[in-house]
Amino acid sequence: MQAVPSEFLAIDRRERANRPFFDLDLRPPEVRTCDFDGVVISFDPERAMVEAARCVHCPDPAPCMLACPAHNDIPSAMWLIEQGQFEEAANLYHSTSSLPEICGRVCPHEALCQGSCVLNKHHQPVQTGELEAFAVDHQRRTNGYAIPLGSPTGKKVAIIGAGPAGLACAEQLVRKGHEVTIFESKPAPGGLLVYGIPNFKLPKDVWMEKWEEFERAGVKFVPNTYIGKDRTIDGLFEEGFEAVFIGVGSEIDAKMEDTPGTDLPGVYEATDFLIRGNVEGELLPENMRKPLELGRRVVVIGGGDTASDCLRTALRLGAEEVTCLYRRTEKEMPGGKKDRTMARDEGAKYRFLTQPVKFIAGPDGKLAAVECIEMKLGEPDAKGRRRPVPVEGSNFSVAADTAILALGYWPDPILGKTTPNLEVHDWGLITADKKTGSTSRPGVFSGGDCVTGPDLVVTAMVGGRKAAASIDEYLRNK
Ligand SMILES: Cc1cc2nc3c(=O)[nH]c(=O)nc-3n(C[C@H](O)[C@H](O)[C@H](O)COP(=O)(O)OP(=O)(O)OC[C@H]3O[C@@H](n4cnc5c(N)ncnc54)[C@H](O)[C@@H]3O)c2cc1C
Repeated sequence: MQAVPSEFLAIDRRERANRPFFDLDLRPPEVRTCDFDGVVISFDPERAMVEAARCVHCPDPAPCMLACPAHNDIPSAMWLIEQGQFEEAANLYHSTSSLPEICGRVCPHEALCQGSCVLNKHHQPVQTGELEAFAVDHQRRTNGYAIPLGSPTGKKVAIIGAGPAGLACAEQLVRKGHEVTIFESKPAPGGLLVYGIPNFKLPKDVWMEKWEEFERAGVKFVPNTYIGKDRTIDGLFEEGFEAVFIGVGSEIDAKMEDTPGTDLPGVYEATDFLIRGNVEGELLPENMRKPLELGRRVVVIGGGDTASDCLRTALRLGAEEVTCLYRRTEKEMPGGKKDRTMARDEGAKYRFLTQPVKFIAGPDGKLAAVECIEMKLGEPDAKGRRRPVPVEGSNFSVAADTAILALGYWPDPILGKTTPNLEVHDWGLITADKKTGSTSRPGVFSGGDCVTGPDLVVTAMVGGRKAAASIDEYLRNK
């Protein structure tokens, strides 16, 4: 239910709908591709109040609130921002979201809250994502924010994986007074917020400031610890943890099986490329500290958000020609339009209905070209997307000294293999109840990409929050 009921607001909806719209201010492409800083210029208080005042306050439940996987009370937040009550708006976001400043920046708003805004019919939607980030950033810079802690219960919970799912679970559990330790295989917390999503979409300092909230709330962090290799889930129970949350994501790059030449120097997997291109110094895992060798002509293979991130990273690293090769048409691309538009504005080119069939070495043994075949669209597959079918004899060559494979991700099956009675399915996804996050092992819960497959920050966060509620109930009844 909306905290500020729309029927109490004395507003003229038609007049609001017709108020002028000012699009987001973005740094110009030729400037922003010279560095890795954020692209969007944040709202100032005045601009935020004007934008929030465009909300027409749909009857409860508003479509934006329903479309948000966290069900943020967006209309009430818009009302509070319009009144200049930024602190109250921020607290409203904190009540339903564990990562509002992150979701405000990286959610595909055009497909979620903004996409469902009724103003889309004849006007421009309210920029709800940017307003969320504004309110929470404003609170941090003025009064600061502390996670409200519950009275200590003396119960210890182990969380495996410090991505959005694990972090949200941790945040909810400390609010209930439980002691939380996060075990993470990488040197720093954040999961794909650090080791995936590039800085120009989510500046690392925004995440680092967020992490300080967790530290101040007493969340313990154990880095460089791969559960399943260095320790086991059974071992964690033996150490005294009374419940375990698995939030290990789906981070193993899909391979281009049967395509010769993927092992050539110059061919990178997306994760390796994005981490080495976007992460610096001590945050870099030890096996990724060798600098990237980027060529002049880069091709990125794939059609998702990861592909857009790779294109844009390559441009910032100085590549001269950056081209996306995708085997279907733009209509079938799974990645968001917003990121694609930014990539195009920054200079990326797209070549559709194109499938690489061979990576070819030059005289120096390094990648020199990619042999491709033209595709056409055939019958729809099980998901309704038309299958790409090769056009016989249409092979052609694209000159490239760097190729990045951004083909999707699988989960790491290791926890299923090393944890007796933990049920997994389809290549290692953890079998967990959608509402509670319970797994086949009592006391073991799970959520995020390792349950759903690759998805979004916000859905992983919601998975972590739901599991935290079940863990709390489990610990109290134990
Ligand atoms: C390049 C890229 C860009 C993206 N951009 C966006 C975007 O703009 N917007 C959006 O909403 N979503 C985006 N996503 C998707 C989003 O990042 C994920 O859906 C989300 O991070 C999943 O959260 P998670 O906690 O389930 O997993 P992750 O974020 O993957 O975190 C899992 C953590 O577990 C750790 N781990 C794994 N195995 C073990 C183990 N055995 N022991 C200990 N630790 C382990 C990993 O190191 C990692 O830190 C993007 C994804 C990628 C790859």
